[in-house]
Amino acid sequence: MSTGKTSRDKHASNTNTKALLNIDQNHIWHPYSSIDGMQANYLVSSASGVRLTLSDGRQLIDGMASWWSAIHGYNHPQLNQAAQSQLAKMSHVMFGGLTHEAAIKLAQTLVNITPEGLNRVFFSDSGSVAVEVAIKMALQYWQARGNSKRTRILAFRKGYHGDTIGAMATCDPITGMHHIFNDILMKNIFAQAPECSFDEPWQESFFSDFELQFNANKDEIAAVIIEPIVQGTGGMNFYSPVFLRKLSEFCKANDVLLIADEIATGFGRTGKLFACEHAKISPDILCLGKALTGGYLSMAATLCSDAVAEQICSAAPGVFMHGPTFMANPLACAIAQCSIDLLLEDNILEGNALTRVAKIELQLKSELVKCRDLDCVKEVRVLGAIGVVELKQAVDMKIIQPMFVAQGLWVRPFGRLVYIMPPYITSKKDLSVLIDGIFQVLTQYQGTNLERACP
Ligand SMILES: *Cc1c(COP(=O)(O)O)cnc(C)c1O
Repeated sequence: MSTGKTSRDKHASNTNTKALLNIDQNHIWHPYSSIDGMQANYLVSSASGVRLTLSDGRQLIDGMASWWSAIHGYNHPQLNQAAQSQLAKMSHVMFGGLTHEAAIKLAQTLVNITPEGLNRVFFSDSGSVAVEVAIKMALQYWQARGNSKRTRILAFRKGYHGDTIGAMATCDPITGMHHIFNDILMKNIFAQAPECSFDEPWQESFFSDFELQFNANKDEIAAVIIEPIVQGTGGMNFYSPVFLRKLSEFCKANDVLLIADEIATGFGRTGKLFACEHAKISPDILCLGKALTGGYLSMAATLCSDAVAEQICSAAPGVFMHGPTFMANPLACAIAQCSIDLLLEDNILEGNALTRVAKIELQLKSELVKCRDLDCVKEVRVLGAIGVVELKQAVDMKIIQPMFVAQGLWVRPFGRLVYIMPPYITSKKDLSVLIDGIFQVLTQYQGTNLERACP
């Protein structure tokens, strides 16, 4: 608890917290929530390093990096400085007809660090929009080639690509939102999720459902979209780089575009700067988001090859038909550039961020596995700075969420998955506390569950 607070101060701040949460409850939507009942119980007053500070002074170690994005932690002095310097120049200016150094530098950086051949950068506001842009690029590409039949996307089951209408139509058709919006969604094609786990020896049969779906619809497919190596929100599954390499070769051989959605995996999370590198592939179109600005601001980018860009612009209307109001927001661009600099910067003692991710991976592999001994646990898997404990049954969030907070941790499970993707700056000690805490909470949780199951 913070020092020097009188009990009257505390009382006032508690009352204030209550009042704020009350307004929140009465007026604000939270992600995937109902307006009935409390959607958010915890008021964050500040965040620094890997710690979130709640309004009552409690501190939580953050295992989520605010959904993959805060890779350098919160309130980072250099990112703050980048924001402040840019703020003093301009926070925004329209991108139609005008340009600025922050966008130019960032675009050059992205072209340099992403897989070979992705030379054209389209900036947008969020991951879902980056996916919309990718889909529109694929559709305009085929239009420009004079082929109006290729209007469908081949996507994978258990995939997740965002919440807007176009992106949603490429998400898993069962666990996604297709049943609600079915009538208006693009009629896309779905292949089985890649079945081979990351290290599993390759068998040709792993590729057969994809080939089947492709061949049955080949004249209508504009592009194939996939999350490279890690299917995130759709189940946190890690699959073999061989699958991705085969897919890339197949798309080239069959003259269809490949869209890699690296919105979750990009910027080091899987142990490589981009997950495509595990398979040494270059997609035709690449989507980036989440960690792009180190979790500071919402920004995304869609990169494509010269061939795609040239084709799109070679036929009427001669332009790519998209242009967000806040395109290439200078503030976001400046912060993104600084975040990437931090990511690549070599520190004599610790190496660069990828070395830190490798250390996190080792520690997760040696310490998180103890969760395997728990009865409620089905599997534990680790890749890069991603640790997943898959349970046998879906968790009850009302019970488990307060348990994590009581442990001093911010971990937010979904369904059967208790998973973490901590900031790369997480120390060995904090990571141990995080992992131990997960073990403690799951031990306690399966206890309360047993009590409820057998009264
Ligand atoms: C989060 C995510 C998106 C959507 O990004 P938003 O910024 O939430 O719109 C798309 N694809 C993948 C793989 C993601 O993880």
